[in-house]
Amino acid sequence: MDAISYERAPDAAAAIRLASQPGVVFIGGGTNLLDLMKGGVARPVKLVDITHIDGLDRITALPDGGLRIGALARNSDTANHAWVRDRYPLLSQAFLAGASAQLRNMATVGGNLMQRTRCYYFYDAGFPQCNKRNPGSGCAALEGNNRIHAILGASPQCIATNPSDMSVALAALEAVVRVSGPQGERAIPFAEFHRLPGDRPDLDTTLQRGELITSVDLPPPLFAQHSRYLKVRDRASYAFALVSVAAALQMDGDTVTSARIALGGVAHKPWRATETERMLAGKPLTRATLQSAAALAVRDAKPYRENGFKVELAQRAIVRAVEQAGGVA
Ligand code: SF4
Repeated sequence: MDAISYERAPDAAAAIRLASQPGVVFIGGGTNLLDLMKGGVARPVKLVDITHIDGLDRITALPDGGLRIGALARNSDTANHAWVRDRYPLLSQAFLAGASAQLRNMATVGGNLMQRTRCYYFYDAGFPQCNKRNPGSGCAALEGNNRIHAILGASPQCIATNPSDMSVALAALEAVVRVSGPQGERAIPFAEFHRLPGDRPDLDTTLQRGELITSVDLPPPLFAQHSRYLKVRDRASYAFALVSVAAALQMDGDTVTSARIALGGVAHKPWRATETERMLAGKPLTRATLQSAAALAVRDAKPYRENGFKVELAQRAIVRAVEQAGGVA
């Protein structure tokens, strides 16, 4: 067993200073990190407990009409917050689709952003081939069990998917991740927070060493009337998405004036279906238009031996989610 030290950070500055050393990681709810440590997948030398930093769990209104969700806000508290339910129902639905009630009560928004893939081989520390866990060792999923893996944006180094439901909704809402680190504060547009695997699948995000997520900022609500988070999975609860869709529309009568579509379960990061969005804008919400638009989302899909079903499933899920968002289903 490896020795691990633990320190409770009294404030953000102390947390950042402590985490600027190699092998030091933050712990909040711990719902993913502790699993990884118990399995020998994560081997930190020190845990910095950030749960006592004042103010990081607050949810507050922003002057522009948006919402700031503190990084330590619990998933269940955020999902059930009146402002989130009323103004960002897409996000509330995504939270409630994730994990179990017990896990949502512990898990934090910042930790949800940092969730690691559920690839079977990544979680089995006894399995030698995994570029994400053991860089340069290969990818067992390429020729192995890859039913839950990516069909978009993968690389020969890694075909894992991001497991977060919350992040799919945040991608559609174009949230901003605020971080504080040794070089100061910065705001990361959501599309730039998670990475595609490329030749560094060991890196899930663009965070730098020592950077602490302080909040997720939501822009003013545009889609409260017409949005839907649809998750397709093997069982009705406590399962990760095979495919999920966050659909957010602005409508003028039956016509879509603007659309945001993000997919989960198909790529190493939440996947924006921008061509689908462009095709839907300015058009009446008909089944034929939707099917053509959904096909664009998977035009560049590259399925593997066991996950070809996701190509059709993603299209059907887009059609259903957008119809439900638009009130025509
Ligand atoms: Fe590892 Fe990624 Fe391959 Fe899974 S898909 S075995 S996480 S390298």
